Amino acid sequence: MTAAATPRQPAGTLRGSDAGKTVLLKGWVARRRDLGELIFLDVRDRSGIVQTVFDRARCPAEAVEAASSARSEDVVEIEGSVVPRGEGQRNADLPTGEVEVVAARLAFLARSETPPFTVEDRTNATEELRLEYRFLDLRRPAMLKNFVLRDEIAFRVRRVLHERGFLEVETPMLTRSTPEGARDFLVPSRVHRGKWYALPQSPQLFKQILMVSGFEKYFQIARCFRDEDLRADRQFEFTQIDLEISFPTEEDVFDTVEAFLADAFAAAGIRADRPFPRLKYREAMDLYGTDRPDLRYGLPLTNLSDAVKGTGFVPFARALESGGTVRGLRVPGGAAASRKRLDELAARAKEHGAGGLVWVKVQGGEVSSPAKKGLSETEMRGLLDASSTGEGDLLLIVADREGPALAALSALRAEAAREHGLVDETRHAFCWVTEFPLFGRDEETGAWFPMNHPFTGPREEDVDLLESDPGRVRARAYDVVVNGWELGSGSIRIHRDDLQERVFRVLGISAEEGRERFGFLLDALRYGAPPHGGIALGLDRICAIAAGATSLRDVIAFPKTSSGTDLMTKAPARVLPEQLRELGIDGKAAASAPSGEREAVPSASASTSASASSSDPPER
Ligand code: ASP
Repeated sequence: MTAAATPRQPAGTLRGSDAGKTVLLKGWVARRRDLGELIFLDVRDRSGIVQTVFDRARCPAEAVEAASSARSEDVVEIEGSVVPRGEGQRNADLPTGEVEVVAARLAFLARSETPPFTVEDRTNATEELRLEYRFLDLRRPAMLKNFVLRDEIAFRVRRVLHERGFLEVETPMLTRSTPEGARDFLVPSRVHRGKWYALPQSPQLFKQILMVSGFEKYFQIARCFRDEDLRADRQFEFTQIDLEISFPTEEDVFDTVEAFLADAFAAAGIRADRPFPRLKYREAMDLYGTDRPDLRYGLPLTNLSDAVKGTGFVPFARALESGGTVRGLRVPGGAAASRKRLDELAARAKEHGAGGLVWVKVQGGEVSSPAKKGLSETEMRGLLDASSTGEGDLLLIVADREGPALAALSALRAEAAREHGLVDETRHAFCWVTEFPLFGRDEETGAWFPMNHPFTGPREEDVDLLESDPGRVRARAYDVVVNGWELGSGSIRIHRDDLQERVFRVLGISAEEGRERFGFLLDALRYGAPPHGGIALGLDRICAIAAGATSLRDVIAFPKTSSGTDLMTKAPARVLPEQLRELGIDGKAAASAPSGEREAVPSASASTSASASSSDPPER
């Protein structure tokens, strides 16, 4: 049989039942072992790996010669017959391990230089090297597996949305500044000198416009760009599952998202129990200190402010007098913590902005705590009762402004859960967090900024508070969370121009400014805009969690490093002087673009939940 007549056999598909077949393999040499009489070449392709053997006694000399010169990562074509391996020769680690291919012919389709690292799942190559030689890194079966999963997830999301009547619509990459509150990536216009496009931070405004156009249900697996400081695992460009619905209630959004998330995670064997439980923002903050609680374990916080009011312990009194709060975390069975451990926990609390940490231990009926000197026995009892702290427990208390107190205790809660083995790693605990405040307030300037983005609708019953008490206005906004990770956020939008202008005013966006930047949306709202709402979820994050990856970079084919460079293409790179001239940019002009063209929403702080969360580090 000639090579042309034998169809190519995917290497990883061979099983015991294929014994006796003549096959043609095409793939990469994963490994060569030369035992003198026998030369083994492991052949790898997308489907997997199979062992081939060249037997000097039986194989044509030419093929043996070729096999002995084969090197890792050469691309080969091998013809041979499938033979069962003898007892004791089987490789239980390989799906193809029951057989091998006894080779009769080998041709090189391409030779490879010695790769800078071995293409194997277990690699000790640095991440820099892996990113520089990404084409080799992606050959590693473990990486390929992530992309097979990513493809399946995206496919399932599309299928669910398509079946539910969503239209996939592409929106522009070259656009103008969008409102997620991060810095824009700008692209100079050659035709309109001195003017700039911005790459979209999200398709937010376009999807709202599509609702005004009557599309009713839109979605897009959309690339978004945010020029944010790269912490940990953030990426400048990332992918969102973006959707918008006309005439929706929150329930419609929740139902749609739960349906595709359940299907998508099932691709990784992960169960998402529906309906996802719901928590109001306030509840989430009070119980867990965060708006993205990990519900795989309990460990709720308690508000101890009332219990310690009027007591003589200075840190408590000081916090309460200055409008702060006293919150506690009971760690069941935590009383065994050493002094050193308590110091570490205090340091951890401080990293999160808390002024300090007060601890109370109950051991052998004895209460020990630095707070003992400021609290009477009854007051201490009151504190223990209020937090249900009993024998063997540790109570961790932070007395501070609410922000740092909750942030610190939320971090300690996660740490205590890990330390005491309370995290059920087999579970994925999804939930919705609802009723976010519409605005946050910049502590320094006192200015209001949108907690999400400026098009988020207020709850009807809070609209009257817009001017009088903006801080109390709750938004029709929601986040979907799993295991302490925010997967996405969205809202029911403002669909009336008068309300939109009122919200702009609270945010300090003047009528002219609103018109200049979002005029097209305001116009659209004047021509019969249906009530609408939607959400966007981070696809990279979903894939990383589903794949059990520790880094977003393991589910993005060509990611950038934490300093924003692509080590393979070496982007960003210098361009030719002619290119700059053509764009009307010289060194100086490039350094300071016309201000009117590059501004982001000034009132939307880059640290608001929407922008910070979509790309929070997924490292766990
Ligand atoms: N555009 C928002 C974001 O990217 C999501 C939304 O409100 O739909 O965070």
